[in-house]
Amino acid sequence: MISAADVDELTGRVRGPVLVPDTEGFAQEVTGFNLAGVARPNVVVGATGTEDVVAAMGWAGAHRCPVGVQATGHGADQAMEGGLLITTSRMQDLDVDLVHRTARVGAGVRWRNVLEATLPHGLIGLNGSSTDVGVVGYTLGGGLPILGRTFGWAADRILAAELVTPDGAVHRLDADHDPELFGLLRGGTGNLGIVTSLAFELVPLDGFYGGGIFYPGADAHQVLTAFSSWAPALPPQANTSVALLRLPDLPMVPDPLRGQFVVHLRFAWAGDPDQGAQALAPMREVSHPVLDTAAPMDYGEVDRIDMDPTEPVPLFHTGGFLADFGTDAVQDLLAVAGPGQDFPAVAVEVVQMGAAFSHPGQVPDAVHGRGADCFLGVVALLVPPVAESVPAAVEALLQAMAPHAPGGVFVNHYGFPDTEAERARAWPAEAYERLVQAKTALDPQNLLRFQHVVGQGHP
Ligand SMILES: Cc1cc2nc3c(=O)[nH]c(=O)nc-3n(C[C@H](O)[C@H](O)[C@H](O)COP(=O)(O)OP(=O)(O)OC[C@H]3O[C@@H](n4cnc5c(N)ncnc54)[C@H](O)[C@@H]3O)c2cc1C
Repeated sequence: MISAADVDELTGRVRGPVLVPDTEGFAQEVTGFNLAGVARPNVVVGATGTEDVVAAMGWAGAHRCPVGVQATGHGADQAMEGGLLITTSRMQDLDVDLVHRTARVGAGVRWRNVLEATLPHGLIGLNGSSTDVGVVGYTLGGGLPILGRTFGWAADRILAAELVTPDGAVHRLDADHDPELFGLLRGGTGNLGIVTSLAFELVPLDGFYGGGIFYPGADAHQVLTAFSSWAPALPPQANTSVALLRLPDLPMVPDPLRGQFVVHLRFAWAGDPDQGAQALAPMREVSHPVLDTAAPMDYGEVDRIDMDPTEPVPLFHTGGFLADFGTDAVQDLLAVAGPGQDFPAVAVEVVQMGAAFSHPGQVPDAVHGRGADCFLGVVALLVPPVAESVPAAVEALLQAMAPHAPGGVFVNHYGFPDTEAERARAWPAEAYERLVQAKTALDPQNLLRFQHVVGQGHP
């Protein structure tokens, strides 16, 4: 139980704001992008830097108070109940080294901030489908970039990290300093402590072509069948996914897509735009597109490719890796989520992997899915009247796709697994064991027990 005196003590230890429920600013501090998992802690610290994180961790250890961390709330899949929430949105340091092509970010920096600083110099970081997402949380979860077939996982680009462990110690990790912990950070998500800064490689981008083609939902079978033979044969410069979208009838959805069931092919080509257009050409012959936005594109507009929501929404997202997306898998997917089915998810997507996604990591890490052919993702809005039917419908889809799924899931898109066995599916078995060992050694009080925590100490 946290008393008023305990909170006063915490307030005296940190520079940032300390807020308790029902006080001014509390709701705003805990509310992030995913409204399905708005945290309900006993107390929140708005950390201004490493010193605040160290002090807050020390306080939590002394009071045996569980700790959660939040940057943007994109990964707030399950509301944390009670405990101390450390928010990092004030930690906005961003240094770009153009000579060595690296960036170092504070824990609160979003991909959009990185892009604005690097793109004018022809460099990018490996962001995903939405640059609104936080760099640190995304990268610690592996980071599946929109250009992942070309450049690989974002976690593979980590050069160094500053980590505050639950005992309040500050670790400066890189390949030469505590390589075991350094490796486990890559895919280990928030299990080891709070990362206060992260340094990573940037990559040069010389030309870009991207956008989407929307087809009528009724043509889903022919579009997905064409995708299943076209996508795996693409060169590594090509990055693509296909999604069945059931779009809400809301002003935020542009005409002619509003309220429609459509198939959305997404395409991102790193390199000469003419070659990108040639690679995409066969898919332009499939069905009659409702809308075609693919064109030479400024990478600064990259969010327009997947068109993820930009305003906070109550989201449920989950999925898993696929060993293949051949004609049988297409049939199985459509039997549950295709035309004529009353499927309650706003998006069912298949991301083509392979190419640089399958390259081995440079250090023993905790990234899952390197051998996968595709990633299957499901995104639903937890709003009436569909919210109640979402879990069972999604489970039915995952069961239908089980013959094509080797069993692994991606921790960055994994909803809220309940049991330890379910949570363990987010890592290769050997990496999971190493993560559990490291977590147990670093966090004997199990202070870090929210979200995708390993071991048995979930609340
Ligand atoms: C619209 C949308 C699009 C997305 N697109 C992609 C995509 O293309 N590719 C992809 O890989 N993922 C994607 N994601 C998933 C996203 O990467 C994860 O949800 C990630 O956890 C978000 O990190 P965050 O810091 O922004 O979110 P938060 O909710 O603030 O944090 C989520 C979790 O990250 C960990 N974390 C955050 N900060 C720290 C820290 N400083 N130290 C230690 N752990 C920390 C914690 O476990 C925390 O619970 C997307 C999510 C959404 C909602």
